[in-house]
Parts: sequence; C-alpha cells; structure tokens
Amino acid sequence: MLAGFFAASLASLAEWNDAKNRTPLRHRAPLPVPFGSNRLSAVNFDLSDEQKLIQSTVRDFARQEVAPAAEELDRTKAFPYEIVEKLGGLGLMGIPFPQEYGGGGADTLSYVLAVEELARIDSSVCITMAAHTSLGTMPIYLWGTDEQKDEWLPVLCSGQKLASFGLTEPEAGSDAGNVRTTAKLDDGEWVVDGAKQFITNSGTDISGCVSITAVTGQADGRKEISNLIVPTGTPGYEVGEPYRKMGWNASDTRPLSFEGCRLPEANLLGRRGDGFKNFLHILDGGRIGVAAMGVGLAQGALDEAISYAKERQAFGKPISKFQSIQAKIADLSAQIEAARLLTWRAALEKDAGQSFTLTAAQAKLITGRLAVRATEEAVQIHGGYGYIEEYPVCRFYRDAKILTIGEGTDEVQQMVIARQLGC
Ligand SMILES: Cc1cc2nc3c(=O)[nH]c(=O)nc-3n(C[C@H](O)[C@H](O)[C@H](O)COP(=O)(O)OP(=O)(O)OC[C@H]3O[C@@H](n4cnc5c(N)ncnc54)[C@H](O)[C@@H]3O)c2cc1C
Repeated sequence: MLAGFFAASLASLAEWNDAKNRTPLRHRAPLPVPFGSNRLSAVNFDLSDEQKLIQSTVRDFARQEVAPAAEELDRTKAFPYEIVEKLGGLGLMGIPFPQEYGGGGADTLSYVLAVEELARIDSSVCITMAAHTSLGTMPIYLWGTDEQKDEWLPVLCSGQKLASFGLTEPEAGSDAGNVRTTAKLDDGEWVVDGAKQFITNSGTDISGCVSITAVTGQADGRKEISNLIVPTGTPGYEVGEPYRKMGWNASDTRPLSFEGCRLPEANLLGRRGDGFKNFLHILDGGRIGVAAMGVGLAQGALDEAISYAKERQAFGKPISKFQSIQAKIADLSAQIEAARLLTWRAALEKDAGQSFTLTAAQAKLITGRLAVRATEEAVQIHGGYGYIEEYPVCRFYRDAKILTIGEGTDEVQQMVIARQLGC
C-alpha cells in the first residue's frame, strides 16, 4: 500500500513538474524563499521521554499549584511570589540554560511544552516565567561575559531573582530602533539617561536586573545602539508604579526611568553597537514562547468550554449535544492542533540551528489571533457565566488580547513574514 502511495505521489510530482515547465515564465510565481517544508530533515511528532516528563511535570504543577490560586491572584493583582519560588525549585525558571549555571539544560521544545501547560491554566504566571527566561535571562546567556554569566545566571535560573528586558520606550515600540535612551562613557562609567515603558518583571521584590538598549554613540551616521545590564537598586534607576492592565493582572509591568544612572563600564552586554541586532534576535526566540502561550491559552479555553458544555443543560439536554456548540468545539480543536504544530516546528528549527525567524513570526501571528478567538468562543459557550469572574474563561478572555500586541504586534509579524518571503 505504501509503495502504491509513493508511486502515485511520484507520478503526480512528475505531472506537476511537467506542467510547471510548460507554464510561460512570466506567469510563473517565484517560489517563496525559504520554502518551509524543505528545511527540517525529518518530521517526527513524538516527544522524547525527557520532553514528556517536563510536559507532565508542568501540567501537574499548573493544575495543583497554580489553578487554585489563579482567580485570587488576578482579582487582587498580587504577584505570584510563592509560585515563582516553587517553579524555581522545580528547575522551571531556567529550562533552556546549561546545568552548570543551574539551568535545566533542555531544548526549546521542552521550554515550549512548559509554557503551553502554564498558559493553559494561568497567563500571568506563565508570562512571568516566559519573559524572565526568553527575554530577561537569554541575552545574558547569549552575550554575557564569563563574569556576567557567573554573577547572574545562577540566581536567575534558580528563580531567586527575576530578569527583565528593556526595549520599549515611549517613542520606540514597533519602531524599536528609535531608541532615545542614551548611555555615555564618563570616567570609566556609563551614564544612562532616558525611559522605558511596559517592562515585565521589573518592579517585584525579587527583580534583579534589566537589560536595556541605549544609544552609545554614532557609527556611519547612524545611531550606535548597545545593550547594558542595569541592576535593580542602582542609583538613578527608578521603577514606576505598575500599570492598571486589561489582563495579566498578576504579572508585573512598569515604566522605568534613568537619570544620571551610573554603571560600571563592564556592564556593557555583548559588543558595543550590536545592541539592536541582538535584541531583535531575542525577540525572534521570544516569539516562539509567546506563540506557545497562545496555544496553551486557547487549549485552556477549549478545555473549559468542553467541560462546561457537557455539564450545562438546556432544552432538556447538555448543550454539548447541540450542533452549533459542537461546531465551535470542533473548529477550535483543529485550529489549536495546527497552531501547536507550527509552534513546535519553530522550536525544532531553533534547536536545529536553522533560521526560525519566518516560522516564529508565523506562529506568533496565528496563535495570538487564535487565543483571542478561542477565549471569545469559550465565553460564548458559557453564556452569562462566561461574563462572571469566578469562571476562568472570563480571565482567559482578558488575558488573550495582549498576545496580538506584545513582542511585536500582528502588523509587525506581517512585516517580518512578508520580508522573509522576499517582499
Ligand atoms: C503587558 C505588556 C507587557 C510588555 N512587556 C514588555 C517587556 O517586558 N519589554 C519590552 O521591551 N516591551 C514590553 N511590552 C511592550 C510591547 O512589546 C509593545 O507594546 C509592542 O511592541 C507595541 O509597541 P507600542 O505599544 O509602542 O505600539 P505602537 O508601535 O505605537 O503601535 C500602535 C499601532 O500601530 C501599528 N503600527 C506601528 N507601526 C506600523 C507599521 N509600520 N505598519 C503597520 N502598522 C504599524 C501597530 O501594529 C499597532 O497596531 C509590553 C507591553 C505590554 C502591554
């Protein structure tokens, strides 16, 4: 049977090639570059034993430790210190970093699985872990000197301290290169002046440092942008009051200001002038994590919708027996599975050392939209109770929208994708 399938495929491939060659050149659309399906050497949907273990460990942890606390944390806008401590104890605050620094030494797919399972239960806890890992700690791991890694990675991987990523400014959001914060060398020290906004994990009792972009000079008539590590508590570095947000209520998001903030010259992170390029690379990787959040949140919404639909009776039977409810559930399950595979693919490309910019942006784009749609449908399936805060779908709905904005808006993902396709 398999031989027959291959023979049929080869025949149709030959026909396709033949037809393609007969098409006049001017009518032939160029193949998008790179063409996704040729890039990974094999397709394998089986998780390794280690990946399955991380998935089941985080699933159990999220259900037993996060779910009972999530509603109250959201309502009181309280930062989840105890949960972060437990995540650190389980080795989940440094999953992709080497064990010599106290990290988990695991691959990106393992990290994605952990993010999915946390977002399935609570997005605030999940973004605390994800922003700390893929945005806060990753630049220090990738570009830190030995001294910087020794100083920061052990306390960050253990979850004793949190790291944050200071890119966005009042004038530099989507236009991230329009940095106004400056850092000037003076007597062997950097003097930082400027402001950042919307910075996750920056103002908790355990916030250790923020890595920022700052203009350090001019090179070839353009701004020279570099990265610097700013430890919490440095004089001249102020963390503002937390924002009042639509969702992610238990996660910490604040504005930062720098006024004559003096740092040792050794706090330069990576090469001088590489700061913008390096942070764009961090965003590429971060998008895989945010895509996993979208998959997890959509899955959590579907879980809740199915269980409610089986329980709720109307017209003498469970609403899960109505075709229009079944259609919503069926559509969502198919879309979630497709989004999950795309997200996993981005993770596999990253681990294989291949370019993953295109896949990560595609995954981020579709998962954010899917999370918004899935949570809306889940609220709809809950009827009036979907609008009441005791039901998790109410929180899920508020938590979903940021996934189409943070780490690059949908419009920015479209720009990245179009650029990768040669437009
Ligand atoms: C809760 C939260 C947490 C965050 N955490 C962090 C963090 O830890 N670190 C950090 O650095 N940042 C963080 N951010 C910032 C986030 O990444 C930015 O908000 C996001 O990148 C969008 O930037 P902006 O808000 O300036 O929007 P703008 O750039 O002002 O965009 C406004 C609108 O214009 C559109 N737009 C802009 N340019 C174009 C264009 N060329 N073509 C088409 N449309 C365009 C956008 O897509 C958007 O719809 C966080 C934000 C929030 C809300």
